[in-house]
Amino acid sequence: MARYTESSCRLCRRDGLKLFLKGDRCYTEKCAFERRGYAPGQHGQAHKKQNSDYGVQLREKQKLKRMYGLLEKQFRGYFEKADQQKGITGTNLLLLLEKRFDNMAFRMGFSNSRTEARQLIRHGHFLVNGKAVNIPSYLLKAGDEVTVKEGSRKITKILEAVETVARRGVPHWLELDKENFKASIKMLPVREDMVMPVQEQLVVELYSK
Ligand code: SF4
Repeated sequence: MARYTESSCRLCRRDGLKLFLKGDRCYTEKCAFERRGYAPGQHGQAHKKQNSDYGVQLREKQKLKRMYGLLEKQFRGYFEKADQQKGITGTNLLLLLEKRFDNMAFRMGFSNSRTEARQLIRHGHFLVNGKAVNIPSYLLKAGDEVTVKEGSRKITKILEAVETVARRGVPHWLELDKENFKASIKMLPVREDMVMPVQEQLVVELYSK
């Protein structure tokens, strides 16, 4: 499957904000954006040029897409789905992205990043409502329960993630039972719960042209 090959930290520096793509490292002083909070490359520290409306919309789209680690085609597919649903397209889009299994596993504290969650899911380390699911894009719903398989509970990445999740916190709409490597979705988030530095209406404007 196609994927980003550029350094995650370069993406943050290019977008001018922390996208939290490297797990626990993002919360420490090792974060590249904390140390060099300007665009990468030879002219990264030069005066920033003013973006056109299109440029600003494009930047917002890139941010959101990179945050969830998606490629253009996949991301566009989510937009189209969101646009067909009732309600506010931008909020629908965010909710669809949040419902992805890889995002949920990350938010629940079973991995340190969405990329790591995707890998763990593909390797079949989780159960959803007692059944094996190895599809990172699988959409979860309120009431679903995710469990780490018995035989996978000693995996270092999972153990480390569960131990350090307190640093970033588990959202109030999820419930983590650390001892039993189990987490559930108490309810789906509303817009106010999806705290992220993205103006999703600009993404909608971009795709609606
Ligand atoms: Fe971004 Fe995390 Fe790298 Fe910091 S450590 S620049 S937040 S990916």
